[in-house]
Amino acid sequence: MAAKQKLVYDFTEGNKDLKDLLGGKGANLAEMTNLGLPVPPGFTITTEACKTYLEKGDEPASLRDEVSAHLDALEQKMGKKLGQADDPLLVSVRSGAKFSMPGMMDTVLNIGLSDASVGGLAAQAGNERFAWDSYRRLIQMFGKTVMGVDGDRFEEALEAAKQGKGTSNDLELDAGDLKVLVKAFKGIVREDTGRDFPQDPREQMDLAIRAVFDSWNGDRARLYRRQERIPNDLGTAVNVCSMVFGNLGPDSGTGVAFTRDPSTGHQGVYGDYLQHAQGEDVVAGIRNTVPLADLEKLDKKSYDELMAIMATLENHYRDLCDIEFTIERGKLWMLQTRVGKRTAAAAFRIAVQLVDQGLIDLDEALTRVNGQQLAQLMFPRFDENTKAEYVAWGIAASPGAAVGKAVFDSYTAVKWSRSGEKVILVRRETNPDDLDGMIAAQGILTSRGGKTSHAAVVARGMGKTCVCGAEELEVDTKKRRFTTPDGRVVEEGDLISIDGSTGKVYVGEVPVVPSPVVEYFEGTLHAGADEQGGLVKAVHRIMAHADERRILRVRANADNGEDANRARRYGAQGIGLCRTEHMFLGEERRKEVEHLILADNDKDRETALKTLLPLQKGDFVELFQAMDGLPVTVRLLDPPLHEFLPDITELSVRVALAEARKDPNENDLRLLQAVHRLHEQNPMLGLRGVRLGLAIPGLFSMQVRAIAEAAAERKLAGGDPRAEIMIPLVGTVQELEIVRDDAETVLADVERTHNVELDIKLGTMIELPRAAVTAGQIAEAAEFFSFGTNDLTQTVWGFSRDDVEASFFTAYLEKGIFGVSPFETIDRDGVGALVKQAVEAGRATRPDLKLGVCGEHGGDPDSVHFFHEVGLDYVSCSPFRIPVARLEAGRAAVQTAGSDSR
Ligand code: PEP
Ligand code: MG
Repeated sequence: MAAKQKLVYDFTEGNKDLKDLLGGKGANLAEMTNLGLPVPPGFTITTEACKTYLEKGDEPASLRDEVSAHLDALEQKMGKKLGQADDPLLVSVRSGAKFSMPGMMDTVLNIGLSDASVGGLAAQAGNERFAWDSYRRLIQMFGKTVMGVDGDRFEEALEAAKQGKGTSNDLELDAGDLKVLVKAFKGIVREDTGRDFPQDPREQMDLAIRAVFDSWNGDRARLYRRQERIPNDLGTAVNVCSMVFGNLGPDSGTGVAFTRDPSTGHQGVYGDYLQHAQGEDVVAGIRNTVPLADLEKLDKKSYDELMAIMATLENHYRDLCDIEFTIERGKLWMLQTRVGKRTAAAAFRIAVQLVDQGLIDLDEALTRVNGQQLAQLMFPRFDENTKAEYVAWGIAASPGAAVGKAVFDSYTAVKWSRSGEKVILVRRETNPDDLDGMIAAQGILTSRGGKTSHAAVVARGMGKTCVCGAEELEVDTKKRRFTTPDGRVVEEGDLISIDGSTGKVYVGEVPVVPSPVVEYFEGTLHAGADEQGGLVKAVHRIMAHADERRILRVRANADNGEDANRARRYGAQGIGLCRTEHMFLGEERRKEVEHLILADNDKDRETALKTLLPLQKGDFVELFQAMDGLPVTVRLLDPPLHEFLPDITELSVRVALAEARKDPNENDLRLLQAVHRLHEQNPMLGLRGVRLGLAIPGLFSMQVRAIAEAAAERKLAGGDPRAEIMIPLVGTVQELEIVRDDAETVLADVERTHNVELDIKLGTMIELPRAAVTAGQIAEAAEFFSFGTNDLTQTVWGFSRDDVEASFFTAYLEKGIFGVSPFETIDRDGVGALVKQAVEAGRATRPDLKLGVCGEHGGDPDSVHFFHEVGLDYVSCSPFRIPVARLEAGRAAVQTAGSDSR
């Protein structure tokens, strides 16, 4: 039989690396204990015990005995017994999962107090008020979290007691008042649950442990896990810790502290302290806290000791730590520490500060920041010097700073934005009908819904600023206005500003300033600039190291000179996707495509193609110039042709009206016929990509010629064009072979007529499941693959992005079917598996096959790690995402260094 699993660890037995088993709090309490820091003795019940309890509905058989053994040891150490009448040992029972879930699970303090022991505690402490205050807190917390009493009932009784005394300060309730309150609280428990508050201390403890186990599956905790993508099956540990008291008088208190400022990263003394208080009082805001620095005046000895401990912790954890502590009659106790959360700017600054202090190296600094933080630093911000005051605070759902006129429906948003107005779409919540308005708006503000609401999901997908769930706002879409908590009424057309990085909502226009980090990437701010407390310098150092370490190259998706130039400034090493259809936009060019579509004989078709050729060539010259010396992958036309034709309804109305006037327009009639002919039920799966090239004679050859002539022109002008031609939507090698043969003929012709050698590579996108599965064959005809993970995701899942994102994705995210949209982060198990298979098969056929990705996943942090792991040569993404991809590629290289995953 397997050795029995140990379910309880004394604080002296664990360490910080046992977070899986002991949870974050338990592991760190053990670490501090072993560092010799003053931690009140206690023990931790493992997450394994919780998991068994949740699975079986009962504690593991051996748990009770193990807890008893550890409780005995604790009682011996403390020299008193749990709940002992004349001198009770009291304990706290606290939750503590592997990942911090602040406030999501339960905690009960002062376990062990009862009618029998409250007097003993009073006598020992020499403080009757303290003992009764502790007892009423226990009944309140226990009643609410363990016995399920409505917490408001206790609050109401407490409020009534204060009112009866004519005070709002809980400290003014004396022992007598608190005794009465305890009686009232016990009455509430009995009334609400039909049971008495348990007087047996061990029963209190056991019930509290169960309640903490149960709280893992509480509504709040489940929701939080889904949003933060914390797995559901981890369970929580339970920490049983001997109580120390901050509510023993003015020489006692409790506080929180950071070893550095978590919002700027600066070193110093940061935190809050509250005299004569216990537990949650500091964060609950019941009385005003004082800045931690003031503790030096109140209790210099404890303050000095705390500073020394903070230095020890920083050096030990080699990172910013946050701390909870209590002072009991002048004796400092450490109740918790963990590596603290921080803002994006602080993360970069702290990482390089720690390098400078010699605590970590640059490789480790890279792991301490991430692409999401970098992206946050690149959004424009509201000017920090603004005097504007926010009127509401919602959920920061999609970052950015947006200013515009409030509009309350999608129709107005579109109408106003067409006439050049900047608008913010304000809704209670959005639904798929609001999509047009969301696209037209600068930002979206809703008063309902969380991070996975429709507004949040769609806005993030679009990269649009969004604040959702600003519940303090009363939105009245019928009257086209909203009311702020202070009674101000904002009507349609009034200017508002929303900050998607903080969730703040302002009335009026808040000035926006560009991000210094963007100015640095643009080259308008020097890398050595001490901008924003060294932020730019920190970003520069980390980016430089990422570039040194990364194996993946980073290219841009860009179709014009301006984007290509920006991409190059941001560090792009070429263009991975030029979507040539974008070059056919604009009325003049669209008309030429229309001619091509309407041509019903070779001559007309050739004339249309001849007109398009020089226009295309001009575009390519511009691109090759911007990316001189770097590869430029040009994709031949991909979208269905009807995208270049007028809308079917609009056109039908035009034709009908003309007919009614007896003035038919020949061209419109032909267009309408073509629109009908080209109309498809599922355009995403219709006549597009390589199929167009095969169905419309001369189209692809014209594009290939334009590319080749542009390259020849650049070459003859002394440039170094590195064109690559890419065929979209290939499903079988035969399609590619035919297009390839035609292209080679054209290339040879251009080389001959211009007398230059061009060396243009021909390759394909892998964006259909069949292409991925037959990649070994396709590689026979392709010099490179670029994974089109947008289409591959659509075709593997069998849903079209345009249709599903706005309809059922929110429901899927809420139900936890997706942790994150597969269009945002690559679905490793499905789409990713096909990519991996195609990489292996492609390389088996052609070892020097160049491999990249140009779907939007190329700029997504998690996906970049996947592409590194499967061994692609490059990722390609939009110019603004390039720094994120560079950083993540560096991080991926450092994280997999030494492992065999690549
Ligand atoms: C893709 O499918 O991933 C891709 C890059 O092509 P597009 O998004 O243009 O269809
Ligand atoms: Mg595609």
